[in-house]
Amino acid sequence: MKLSLVVPCYNEAENVAAFQSAVLNAFAGCGYDYEIVYVNDGSRDGTMAALRKLHAAQDCPVKVVSFTRNFGKESGIYAGLQQAAGDYISVIDADLQQRPEIVRDMVKILDEQPAYDIVAAYQDRRGEGKVLTFFKTCFYSLINKMSTVKLRANASDFRTFRRCVAESILSLGEYHRFSKGIFAWVGYETCFIPYTACERAAGTTKWSFRKLLNYAIDGIIGFSTAPLRLATYLGFLSAFSALIYLILVIIQKLACGIDVPGYATIIVLILFLGGMQLFCTGLIGEYVGRAFEQSKKRPIYLAKEILTYESKK
Ligand code: UDP
Ligand code: MG
Repeated sequence: MKLSLVVPCYNEAENVAAFQSAVLNAFAGCGYDYEIVYVNDGSRDGTMAALRKLHAAQDCPVKVVSFTRNFGKESGIYAGLQQAAGDYISVIDADLQQRPEIVRDMVKILDEQPAYDIVAAYQDRRGEGKVLTFFKTCFYSLINKMSTVKLRANASDFRTFRRCVAESILSLGEYHRFSKGIFAWVGYETCFIPYTACERAAGTTKWSFRKLLNYAIDGIIGFSTAPLRLATYLGFLSAFSALIYLILVIIQKLACGIDVPGYATIIVLILFLGGMQLFCTGLIGEYVGRAFEQSKKRPIYLAKEILTYESKK
Protein backbone atom coordinates (compact mmCIF):
# COMPACT_ATOMS: atom_id res chain seq x y z
CA MET A 1 0.00 0.00 0.00
CA LYS A 2 1.48 3.29 -1.08
CA LEU A 3 -0.77 5.85 0.61
CA SER A 4 -3.28 6.00 3.46
CA LEU A 5 -5.62 8.95 3.77
CA VAL A 6 -6.60 9.47 7.40
CA VAL A 7 -9.90 11.35 7.64
CA PRO A 8 -11.33 12.38 11.03
CA CYS A 9 -15.09 12.90 10.74
CA TYR A 10 -17.41 14.50 13.24
CA ASN A 11 -20.95 15.10 12.01
CA GLU A 12 -19.92 15.01 8.36
CA ALA A 13 -22.82 12.90 7.01
CA GLU A 14 -23.38 15.32 4.16
CA ASN A 15 -19.71 15.44 3.21
CA VAL A 16 -18.19 11.98 3.33
CA ALA A 17 -19.66 10.65 0.06
CA ALA A 18 -18.67 13.82 -1.80
CA PHE A 19 -15.25 13.61 -0.18
CA GLN A 20 -14.75 10.05 -1.37
CA SER A 21 -15.75 10.92 -4.96
CA ALA A 22 -13.36 13.84 -4.88
CA VAL A 23 -10.58 11.47 -3.77
CA LEU A 24 -11.45 8.94 -6.49
CA ASN A 25 -11.39 11.72 -9.09
CA ALA A 26 -8.15 13.19 -7.87
CA PHE A 27 -6.38 9.83 -7.77
CA ALA A 28 -7.76 8.39 -10.99
CA GLY A 29 -4.79 7.12 -12.96
CA CYS A 30 -2.28 7.87 -10.23
CA GLY A 31 -0.68 4.45 -10.75
CA TYR A 32 -0.39 3.44 -7.10
CA ASP A 33 -2.75 1.93 -4.57
CA TYR A 34 -4.20 3.87 -1.71
CA GLU A 35 -6.74 3.41 1.08
CA ILE A 36 -8.99 5.72 3.03
CA VAL A 37 -9.15 5.39 6.82
CA TYR A 38 -12.20 7.20 8.18
CA VAL A 39 -12.51 7.86 11.88
CA ASN A 40 -16.04 8.50 13.05
CA ASP A 41 -15.45 10.67 16.08
CA GLY A 42 -18.74 10.01 17.87
CA SER A 43 -20.88 11.77 15.28
CA ARG A 44 -24.52 12.37 16.18
CA ASP A 45 -25.81 12.56 12.64
CA GLY A 46 -25.83 9.86 9.96
CA THR A 47 -22.06 9.88 9.44
CA MET A 48 -21.61 6.25 10.49
CA ALA A 49 -24.38 5.06 8.15
CA ALA A 50 -22.78 6.98 5.29
CA LEU A 51 -19.38 5.51 6.14
CA ARG A 52 -20.83 1.99 6.22
CA LYS A 53 -22.08 2.53 2.68
CA LEU A 54 -18.67 3.70 1.53
CA HIS A 55 -17.07 0.71 3.23
CA ALA A 56 -19.45 -1.72 1.58
CA ALA A 57 -19.01 -0.21 -1.89
CA GLN A 58 -16.06 -1.53 -3.85
CA ASP A 59 -14.79 1.88 -5.02
CA CYS A 60 -11.54 1.76 -3.13
CA PRO A 61 -10.18 0.15 0.05
CA VAL A 62 -11.88 1.77 3.03
CA LYS A 63 -11.40 1.28 6.76
CA VAL A 64 -13.63 2.82 9.38
CA VAL A 65 -12.92 3.27 13.09
CA SER A 66 -15.95 4.31 15.08
CA PHE A 67 -15.51 5.91 18.50
CA THR A 68 -17.87 5.39 21.42
CA ARG A 69 -18.20 9.18 21.78
CA ASN A 70 -16.61 12.40 20.60
CA PHE A 71 -12.94 12.27 21.60
CA GLY A 72 -11.77 15.18 19.43
CA LYS A 73 -9.95 15.44 16.13
CA GLU A 74 -6.56 14.78 17.73
CA SER A 75 -7.67 11.38 19.01
CA GLY A 76 -9.18 10.72 15.58
CA ILE A 77 -5.83 11.32 13.94
CA TYR A 78 -4.18 8.96 16.44
CA ALA A 79 -6.67 6.15 15.75
CA GLY A 80 -6.37 6.71 12.00
CA LEU A 81 -2.58 6.49 12.12
CA GLN A 82 -2.84 3.20 14.01
CA GLN A 83 -4.95 1.72 11.23
CA ALA A 84 -3.06 3.22 8.30
CA ALA A 85 -1.05 0.68 6.31
CA GLY A 86 0.48 2.99 3.71
CA ASP A 87 4.12 3.89 3.20
CA TYR A 88 2.90 7.47 3.08
CA ILE A 89 0.16 8.76 5.31
CA SER A 90 -1.93 11.82 4.73
CA VAL A 91 -4.15 13.59 7.26
CA ILE A 92 -7.00 15.44 5.59
CA ASP A 93 -10.38 16.87 6.66
CA ALA A 94 -13.65 15.40 5.46
CA ASP A 95 -15.27 18.72 4.60
CA LEU A 96 -13.45 19.27 1.27
CA GLN A 97 -11.79 22.43 2.50
CA GLN A 98 -8.55 20.68 1.67
CA ARG A 99 -8.54 19.39 -1.89
CA PRO A 100 -7.38 15.78 -2.39
CA GLU A 101 -5.50 16.95 -5.51
CA ILE A 102 -3.02 18.63 -3.18
CA VAL A 103 -2.31 15.23 -1.58
CA ARG A 104 -1.17 14.00 -4.97
CA ASP A 105 1.27 16.91 -5.17
CA MET A 106 2.47 16.10 -1.66
CA VAL A 107 3.10 12.46 -2.61
CA LYS A 108 5.04 13.67 -5.62
CA ILE A 109 7.26 15.85 -3.45
CA LEU A 110 7.99 12.91 -1.10
CA ASP A 111 8.74 10.68 -4.10
CA GLU A 112 11.07 13.13 -5.75
CA GLN A 113 12.77 14.64 -2.72
CA PRO A 114 13.99 11.97 -0.32
CA ALA A 115 15.39 14.68 1.96
CA TYR A 116 11.86 15.56 3.09
CA ASP A 117 9.86 13.34 5.42
CA ILE A 118 6.83 15.58 5.87
CA VAL A 119 4.99 17.82 3.44
CA ALA A 120 2.77 20.23 5.35
CA ALA A 121 0.28 22.65 3.85
CA TYR A 122 -0.11 26.08 5.38
CA GLN A 123 -2.88 28.47 4.61
CA ASP A 124 -1.65 31.43 2.64
CA ARG A 125 -4.93 33.25 3.05
CA ARG A 126 -7.69 32.30 5.42
CA GLY A 127 -10.98 34.11 5.29
CA GLU A 128 -11.09 34.72 9.02
CA GLY A 129 -12.12 37.77 10.97
CA LYS A 130 -9.54 40.28 12.17
CA VAL A 131 -10.11 39.40 15.84
CA LEU A 132 -9.41 35.69 15.32
CA THR A 133 -6.35 36.46 13.19
CA PHE A 134 -5.09 38.75 15.97
CA PHE A 135 -5.53 36.05 18.62
CA LYS A 136 -3.86 33.45 16.41
CA THR A 137 -0.87 35.72 15.79
CA CYS A 138 -0.56 36.33 19.55
CA PHE A 139 -0.79 32.59 20.22
CA TYR A 140 1.97 31.67 17.77
CA SER A 141 4.35 34.35 18.98
CA LEU A 142 3.66 33.39 22.62
CA ILE A 143 4.14 29.65 22.17
CA ASN A 144 7.22 30.11 20.01
CA LYS A 145 8.80 32.31 22.68
CA MET A 146 8.01 29.95 25.52
CA SER A 147 8.49 26.52 24.03
CA THR A 148 11.53 24.71 22.72
CA VAL A 149 9.57 23.46 19.72
CA LYS A 150 8.90 26.06 17.07
CA LEU A 151 5.52 26.14 15.36
CA ARG A 152 4.96 27.59 11.96
CA ALA A 153 2.09 30.08 11.91
CA ASN A 154 -0.98 28.85 10.02
CA ALA A 155 0.48 25.42 9.33
CA SER A 156 -2.47 23.05 9.41
CA ASP A 157 -2.87 19.36 10.20
CA PHE A 158 -3.15 18.85 6.46
CA ARG A 159 0.05 16.88 5.94
CA THR A 160 1.50 13.91 4.15
CA PHE A 161 4.42 12.09 5.72
CA ARG A 162 6.44 8.93 5.62
CA ARG A 163 5.66 5.87 7.74
CA CYS A 164 8.57 6.58 10.13
CA VAL A 165 6.95 9.91 11.05
CA ALA A 166 3.66 8.17 11.81
CA GLU A 167 5.46 5.67 14.05
CA SER A 168 7.12 8.54 15.91
CA ILE A 169 3.80 10.32 16.40
CA LEU A 170 2.18 7.14 17.68
CA SER A 171 5.02 6.69 20.15
CA LEU A 172 3.88 9.86 21.97
CA GLY A 173 1.14 8.55 24.23
CA GLU A 174 0.07 11.84 25.79
CA TYR A 175 -3.59 12.24 26.58
CA HIS A 176 -3.87 15.95 25.74
CA ARG A 177 -2.78 15.83 22.14
CA PHE A 178 -1.85 19.08 20.48
CA SER A 179 -0.98 17.88 17.01
CA LYS A 180 0.73 21.07 15.80
CA GLY A 181 3.14 20.71 18.72
CA ILE A 182 3.51 16.96 18.26
CA PHE A 183 4.44 17.40 14.60
CA ALA A 184 7.01 20.00 15.54
CA TRP A 185 8.29 17.92 18.44
CA VAL A 186 9.00 14.74 16.45
CA GLY A 187 11.19 16.75 14.12
CA TYR A 188 12.04 15.47 10.59
CA GLU A 189 12.59 17.65 7.55
CA THR A 190 9.37 19.38 6.60
CA CYS A 191 8.52 20.92 3.27
CA PHE A 192 5.88 23.66 3.64
CA ILE A 193 3.60 24.33 0.72
CA PRO A 194 0.94 27.04 0.59
CA TYR A 195 -2.70 26.24 -0.07
CA THR A 196 -5.94 28.12 0.02
CA ALA A 197 -8.68 26.51 2.07
CA CYS A 198 -11.91 26.14 0.13
CA GLU A 199 -15.31 26.82 1.61
CA ARG A 200 -16.75 23.98 3.68
CA ALA A 201 -18.81 21.73 1.37
CA ALA A 202 -21.62 21.34 3.92
CA GLY A 203 -22.19 21.70 7.66
CA THR A 204 -20.42 24.10 9.98
CA THR A 205 -17.02 24.27 11.61
CA LYS A 206 -16.70 22.33 14.86
CA TRP A 207 -14.38 24.93 16.34
CA SER A 208 -16.01 27.55 18.52
CA PHE A 209 -13.92 30.35 20.02
CA ARG A 210 -14.01 28.55 23.37
CA LYS A 211 -12.75 25.31 21.80
CA LEU A 212 -9.95 27.20 20.05
CA LEU A 213 -8.99 28.93 23.30
CA ASN A 214 -8.86 25.59 25.14
CA TYR A 215 -6.83 24.14 22.30
CA ALA A 216 -4.37 27.04 22.53
CA ILE A 217 -4.02 26.53 26.30
CA ASP A 218 -3.44 22.79 25.70
CA GLY A 219 -0.72 23.74 23.25
CA ILE A 220 1.08 26.10 25.58
CA ILE A 221 0.80 23.93 28.72
CA GLY A 222 1.64 20.77 26.76
CA PHE A 223 4.79 22.10 25.18
CA SER A 224 6.23 24.54 27.65
CA THR A 225 6.87 24.83 31.36
CA ALA A 226 7.73 28.52 30.98
CA PRO A 227 4.39 29.62 32.56
CA LEU A 228 5.45 27.93 35.79
CA ARG A 229 8.55 30.08 35.83
CA LEU A 230 6.33 33.10 35.29
CA ALA A 231 4.83 32.38 38.71
CA THR A 232 8.30 32.53 40.25
CA TYR A 233 9.10 35.79 38.46
CA LEU A 234 5.81 37.38 39.49
CA GLY A 235 6.32 36.36 43.10
CA PHE A 236 9.84 37.73 43.11
CA LEU A 237 8.75 40.97 41.47
CA SER A 238 5.93 41.62 43.93
CA ALA A 239 8.11 40.80 46.95
CA PHE A 240 10.78 43.15 45.63
CA SER A 241 8.28 45.97 45.02
CA ALA A 242 6.86 45.48 48.50
CA LEU A 243 10.33 45.82 49.98
CA ILE A 244 10.98 49.08 48.08
CA TYR A 245 7.62 50.40 49.21
CA LEU A 246 8.35 49.46 52.80
CA ILE A 247 11.65 51.38 52.69
CA LEU A 248 9.84 54.42 51.24
CA VAL A 249 7.23 54.33 53.97
CA ILE A 250 9.87 54.12 56.71
CA ILE A 251 11.79 57.06 55.22
CA GLN A 252 8.60 59.11 54.97
CA LYS A 253 7.76 58.36 58.58
CA LEU A 254 11.20 58.89 60.09
CA ALA A 255 12.55 61.73 57.95
CA CYS A 256 9.42 63.76 57.21
CA GLY A 257 7.16 62.55 60.02
CA ILE A 258 4.24 62.00 57.61
CA ASP A 259 1.56 59.54 58.67
CA VAL A 260 1.05 57.53 55.52
CA PRO A 261 -2.66 57.26 54.73
CA GLY A 262 -2.80 53.55 54.25
CA TYR A 263 -6.35 52.47 53.44
CA ALA A 264 -6.32 52.76 49.63
CA THR A 265 -2.81 51.37 49.37
CA ILE A 266 -3.69 48.35 51.45
CA ILE A 267 -6.81 47.58 49.41
CA VAL A 268 -4.90 47.90 46.14
CA LEU A 269 -2.07 45.73 47.41
CA ILE A 270 -4.41 43.06 48.76
CA LEU A 271 -6.31 42.92 45.48
CA PHE A 272 -3.14 42.87 43.42
CA LEU A 273 -1.38 40.21 45.46
CA GLY A 274 -4.55 38.13 45.85
CA GLY A 275 -5.14 38.22 42.11
CA MET A 276 -1.57 37.27 41.37
CA GLN A 277 -1.66 34.39 43.82
CA LEU A 278 -4.87 33.06 42.35
CA PHE A 279 -3.43 33.37 38.87
CA CYS A 280 -0.32 31.43 39.83
CA THR A 281 -2.29 28.77 41.70
CA GLY A 282 -4.50 28.33 38.66
CA LEU A 283 -1.44 28.05 36.47
CA ILE A 284 0.10 25.37 38.65
CA GLY A 285 -3.31 23.69 38.74
CA GLU A 286 -3.28 23.39 34.95
CA TYR A 287 -0.09 21.35 35.12
CA VAL A 288 -1.18 19.30 38.12
CA GLY A 289 -4.47 18.55 36.36
CA ARG A 290 -2.67 17.30 33.29
CA ALA A 291 -0.28 15.21 35.34
CA PHE A 292 -3.31 13.77 37.13
CA GLU A 293 -5.06 12.89 33.89
CA GLN A 294 -1.94 11.40 32.39
CA SER A 295 -1.33 9.35 35.55
CA LYS A 296 -4.70 7.67 35.09
CA LYS A 297 -3.32 6.25 31.83
CA ARG A 298 -6.67 6.38 30.14
CA PRO A 299 -6.73 5.39 26.49
CA ILE A 300 -6.66 8.21 23.93
CA TYR A 301 -9.90 6.90 22.43
CA LEU A 302 -12.32 3.98 22.69
CA ALA A 303 -13.61 2.35 19.53
CA LYS A 304 -16.82 0.39 19.50
CA GLU A 305 -16.39 -0.80 15.94
CA ILE A 306 -13.56 -1.11 13.45
CA LEU A 307 -14.41 -1.98 9.86
CA THR A 308 -11.43 -3.41 8.01
CA TYR A 309 -11.13 -5.15 4.67
CA GLU A 310 -11.80 -8.50 6.35
CA SER A 311 -15.07 -7.34 7.86
CA LYS A 312 -16.39 -6.77 4.34
CA LYS A 313 -16.07 -10.39 3.29
N1 UDP B 1 -13.38 16.82 13.62
C1 UDP B 1 -13.34 15.66 14.39
N2 UDP B 1 -13.67 15.74 15.71
C2 UDP B 1 -14.01 16.92 16.31
C3 UDP B 1 -14.02 18.09 15.52
C4 UDP B 1 -13.70 18.01 14.19
O1 UDP B 1 -13.02 14.58 13.89
O2 UDP B 1 -14.30 16.92 17.51
C5 UDP B 1 -13.04 16.73 12.18
C6 UDP B 1 -14.09 17.32 11.25
O3 UDP B 1 -15.08 16.39 10.92
C7 UDP B 1 -13.26 17.72 10.04
C8 UDP B 1 -11.93 18.11 10.67
O4 UDP B 1 -11.88 17.49 11.96
O5 UDP B 1 -13.06 16.64 9.15
C9 UDP B 1 -11.76 19.61 10.78
O6 UDP B 1 -12.85 20.16 11.50
P1 UDP B 1 -13.52 21.51 11.06
O7 UDP B 1 -13.76 21.53 9.59
O8 UDP B 1 -14.71 21.73 11.94
O9 UDP B 1 -12.38 22.55 11.45
P2 UDP B 1 -11.90 23.83 10.60
O10 UDP B 1 -11.72 23.38 9.18
O11 UDP B 1 -12.98 24.82 10.73
O12 UDP B 1 -10.62 24.21 11.26
MG1 MG C 1 -13.00 22.43 7.99
